[in-house]
Amino acid sequence: VEVLVLKETAAGERRVAATPETVKKLIAAGADVRVEAGAGQSAGFLDQAYYDAGARPADAGSLASAQVVLVVQPPSAEILNGMASGATLVGVLQPQADAARGDAIRARELLAFPLERLPRTTRAQAMDVLSSQAGMAGYKAVLIAAQLTPRFFPMLTTAAGTIRPSKVLIVGAGVAGLQAVATARRLGAQVECFDVRPETREQIESLGGKFLDLGVSAAGEGGYARQLTDDERREQQRRLGEHLKGIDVIVCTAAVPGRPAPKIITASMVEGMRAGSVIVDLAAETGGNCELTRPGESIDHNGVTIAGPLNLASLGAVHASEMYARNVLNFVSLFLREGALSFDWQDELLAKTRWPEPAAP
Ligand code: NAD
Repeated sequence: VEVLVLKETAAGERRVAATPETVKKLIAAGADVRVEAGAGQSAGFLDQAYYDAGARPADAGSLASAQVVLVVQPPSAEILNGMASGATLVGVLQPQADAARGDAIRARELLAFPLERLPRTTRAQAMDVLSSQAGMAGYKAVLIAAQLTPRFFPMLTTAAGTIRPSKVLIVGAGVAGLQAVATARRLGAQVECFDVRPETREQIESLGGKFLDLGVSAAGEGGYARQLTDDERREQQRRLGEHLKGIDVIVCTAAVPGRPAPKIITASMVEGMRAGSVIVDLAAETGGNCELTRPGESIDHNGVTIAGPLNLASLGAVHASEMYARNVLNFVSLFLREGALSFDWQDELLAKTRWPEPAAP
């Protein structure tokens, strides 16, 4: 089975979908692995390391002959059109986000597995790219905030007086939010966090954070949040606006699957914050949790810095790639066995992730 690891083409993307370690395991499972030159370079994996692991360099014909293509971000329509008809494509493909991409996947009759569609079940955890990449994003978001703030995070007792610790608020306690809580705690800040899923209280507290109770609970289906009603949103905002006056740093991570990020921090809340405060909005990718966030930019609003960094996982490309590549390996292992491809459509991990869903008979 020919497996091709592509070099990412998206601007600023440093991650790679396979590492020498996972290449070795793919080969052990019977794959003939080709790696595009420079694929792992910006994640610290040189071509030679892949060859040492048993891969071969990709050549001009590799795309057209590959039976399985591995990527991080969605490939261009041009690449999709160069793939063999019926080939399998694995990555964070977001087929619905771009019509040309979706059309190309259909036109080539590719068997596409957008990994973001994996059900969040226990069995899928080892393949869960949303979780593995969110962990890195939450970590980096806090480091960016620590870099931007004109304050220390920790409490210091010095000959020049005592410095009080920064008060950091993490919005949303999913995978990224909890990693943000843990990271801000390690830097010595006083950390608060809230989420609309009540079960997060215990998780936040176990990491040394304080659960900020805004009196709103909105657990939805499949362990995700649902959208808040207008009344719930107003109540959350009233309590929050009051509270933010004493906060130095906010890291936003709240999301609702398949929807724009919930707008939680309004312009007037920002205007009530002290000058020198910092907001890092990790939700910028889907529009941001703060009304003033500009995705990909950092702005100043009355002395408050609001950063909307994109693709934070790519900043930690080494470990993000290691985790992503293992996720991909575990997923591919569902259908690559003993040198052959076989898809068990009774397996919900394959059936529910596949896109487009096959037409009902
Ligand atoms: P996500 O990125 O979709 O959302 C991030 C967080 O934002 C969530 O915790 C959500 O509740 C919160 N949120 C949404 N609207 C909000 C609002 N208005 N105010 C405050 N917070 C709001 O979520 P995620 O990080 O991908 O994880 C979602 C859930 O899935 C978590 O419970 C996670 O533990 C669970 N999960 C389970 C598995 C598994 O294998 N069982 C794997 C991964 C994740």
